[in-house]
Amino acid sequence: MPSLTLRPGRERPLHQRHPWVFSGAISAVRGSPADGDVIEIHGANGEWLARGFYSGASQIRVRVATWDAEQPLDTAWLRAGIERAIAGRAGLADGPDAACRLVFSEADGLPGLIVDRYGPFLVVQLLTQGMATRAEAVTTALADLLAPQGIYERSDAEVRTKEGLQPQEGLLWGELPPERLELRPLTLLGTGGTPPSMLVNLRGGQKTGHYLDQAANRVRVAAYCRGADVLDCFSYSGGFSLYAAQAGAAHVTLMDTSAEALALAQANLALSAPTTPAELVAGDVFHVLRQYRAEGRTFQVVILDPPKFAHSQAQIDRAARGYKDINLLAMQLLRPGGVLATFSCSGLVSPDLFQKIVFGAAVDAHRDVQIVERLSQGPDHPVRLTFPESEYLKGLLCRVW
Ligand code: SAH
Repeated sequence: MPSLTLRPGRERPLHQRHPWVFSGAISAVRGSPADGDVIEIHGANGEWLARGFYSGASQIRVRVATWDAEQPLDTAWLRAGIERAIAGRAGLADGPDAACRLVFSEADGLPGLIVDRYGPFLVVQLLTQGMATRAEAVTTALADLLAPQGIYERSDAEVRTKEGLQPQEGLLWGELPPERLELRPLTLLGTGGTPPSMLVNLRGGQKTGHYLDQAANRVRVAAYCRGADVLDCFSYSGGFSLYAAQAGAAHVTLMDTSAEALALAQANLALSAPTTPAELVAGDVFHVLRQYRAEGRTFQVVILDPPKFAHSQAQIDRAARGYKDINLLAMQLLRPGGVLATFSCSGLVSPDLFQKIVFGAAVDAHRDVQIVERLSQGPDHPVRLTFPESEYLKGLLCRVW
């Protein structure tokens, strides 16, 4: 079995069960491990610390999967891990048209594996060498445990490049999912009614087809939308607007640069909010909000759910300026007493920093802003205490005077 030894003083994260070993922490590697191989991790004094999966091209050289010396990282381990992750979502999405994340990578102890359930279909991302080389075992375990209609791979996330892996997409098992599938993400969260149906595109849509992580937040934001004139910025397929419409919004404006996203949003509105007046705007939020400000247009609720602005430490300052800019604009468009629902999915921007950015925007906008709710990623995207990196989505629901 290949093994490695850490540099002196680099054992602490391993003792605290953080699952990443960076290349710079390693003093020696023995046994020429291939990408995806299981490797033993030893401290500088030779003590056995953990076992994980090797990835020669990645800065994260090993993803640790067990701290138990007796636990082999075999197919039985993989299956048991998937079973535990599924058990952890009990009651979240049990209906035939429910959708929710079933496996969330390191946060579920399965580094590099994402599994999202969309009704009868599973969408899988294999994002590390360790998982990419175990595609067959993953597929077999999922087919066995869940008997889905089909398992589709969408390993097109940017992290694959850092692992030296090419994007990979296609059918792994069973039937090909249709272009558009009608679902109700996280059906059992309780919306005070039946949640709206949404069309998702598992093969061509963004991420694995849908932003599942916002499902619970859409319910929270909708609570402020009765009778309101709502501006849904970065709308994608219209998740926030559909819940707002169901809660009785007077008007929804959806804005996105992607024509495909807006086409899906249009179909979603026709399906689940046919009587709510709606406007779809194909445009850049940074520009269109400035235009609205110049025109004196105002709203009662503004939602900001931008894509990830910070992909590396070096981008944090620029990301902060981007977040501040859109938050400032949104505040300027809100009528007194209006509600701003503002999000950041950049893991590198901490909740604390995000709040400071929104504070800066409020000061510059000369508005008095109160936080009325703090939001996070949904319960199917758990945050593992030993892996703070698993916390990435944060939101502030603010009253703007
Ligand atoms: N709110 C959505 C998810 C948003 S994802 C939901 O609840 O499902 C971010 C979206 O922002 C993507 O659809 C992307 O196409 C869009 N986008 C990215 N940059 C943009 C910009 N500058 N202006 C408008 N939309 C943008």
